[in-house]
Amino acid sequence: EAKKAIKHYNKYMEDLNTLTSVTYVRYSIETTNKEYKKMMEIVDELSPVISNYSTQYVEVLVNAPYRAELEKELGSYVFKMYDNSLKVFKPEIMEDLVEENKLNSQYDEVMGSAQIEFRGNIYNLSQMSKFKTDLDRKTRQEASEACDKWGNENAPKIEEIYDKMVKIRDQMAKKLGFKNFIELGYLNLGRTDYDSEKVANYRKQIYESVVPLSNQLAKRQKARLGYKKMHFYDWNLSFLSGNPTPNGDEPVLVDHAQKMYNEMSKETGEFFTFMRENHLLDLTAKPGKQPGGYMTFMPKYKAPFIFANFNGTSSDVDTLTHEVGHAFQGYMTRNMKIGDYRSPGLEACEIHSMSMEFLTWPWMDLFFGDDVNKFKFSHLESAVMFLPYGVAVDEFQHWVYENPNATPDERDAKWLEIDKKYRPYMDWSESPFYSKGRRWLLQSHIFGSPFYYIDYTLAQVCAFQFLAESQKNREKTW
Ligand code: ZN
Repeated sequence: EAKKAIKHYNKYMEDLNTLTSVTYVRYSIETTNKEYKKMMEIVDELSPVISNYSTQYVEVLVNAPYRAELEKELGSYVFKMYDNSLKVFKPEIMEDLVEENKLNSQYDEVMGSAQIEFRGNIYNLSQMSKFKTDLDRKTRQEASEACDKWGNENAPKIEEIYDKMVKIRDQMAKKLGFKNFIELGYLNLGRTDYDSEKVANYRKQIYESVVPLSNQLAKRQKARLGYKKMHFYDWNLSFLSGNPTPNGDEPVLVDHAQKMYNEMSKETGEFFTFMRENHLLDLTAKPGKQPGGYMTFMPKYKAPFIFANFNGTSSDVDTLTHEVGHAFQGYMTRNMKIGDYRSPGLEACEIHSMSMEFLTWPWMDLFFGDDVNKFKFSHLESAVMFLPYGVAVDEFQHWVYENPNATPDERDAKWLEIDKKYRPYMDWSESPFYSKGRRWLLQSHIFGSPFYYIDYTLAQVCAFQFLAESQKNREKTW
């Protein structure tokens, strides 16, 4: 009977998760659509109610007299996750969760509805990246200034959203019996085998071993560009001949990707055909679309979905490798019977995506032609230089939740201090937005996915190992 009930529950949850995924996809593509916004509000209100029911379900399983038999059937790891999920939910926090969801959607709306006027046209934040990385220095400067202006105008609104988020998360943690939000944040991410102390030690290793290398790369970039002084908008440029640029827009790049995935393996070829035939890609940037990229999975259709903001820079190709890496993992696990096992922890998920970025290197000449070596160099350089930034984002969040009553100004000041520690070569003094310590306001993970960010840095280091191995033996590494 229990097995029958579990099956029934899983089917129901899969349908529900599919609906919430579809809602989120629709809303993120068109944050200005009133109907989607309303649907998203319903999801925001309902998901804590659903958590309440799933907690009751989990309680029954965890305390069942036949738990041992179920563990044999389902594996003991899922019970570890269940034990964990009981620590992070009580009906007393339902209202807080609804509020937290609403604040997340508000942040997405502010970012998605950004309309930046630049040289007579209107762009969203993702579209502006193209100008911020332009070969022409004046274009980079003016584009950065336009974004700065938007940032400073919207900063009070965004800081207010975050302030409410921090306080509500702190309140939930206390209601659940934690000292502050940090441990709760870790448990929310399903981290069952490491804690904030170990992560602090990891950051220390990045500081000691990677920051010096990253600083050297910054010096090298300055020398390569031959500038006497690096303005803050110059760091976006890698080469005096211009950054590597992909040789086409969405239809061209998707065709290249098809050829690449066909050649890579039978599974990747089938998978990418499936994504295209079922319209599971929304790739090009447009006004009203939320910035960034993500992959989500719709269990009912056994289908991943990829959201991106192509803007004519090399990051378009990064999406076709990174998000496709996630989607391929989703696709390969689509038939697993126990839904809880379909996705690993997020740090492992990012190993799939970041390694895919490197495992596709042999095909990068398709996308970049003569620019291919510039692309590989930039890819590797930015991956190394990302590590200090990534741990800065993590260190900042630990400070935030240890000091939930800090003011927005104190948070900005702390960000500047931490950023200086990890990226000492950056001089923000000329930017009215960055010099106030507001860079973190643009990092969406800090808002919607607290403590997620360190996962990228953990996965990046593993992805380097995949790159090294694949250069010895691609077949075996694949
Ligand atoms: Zn990812």
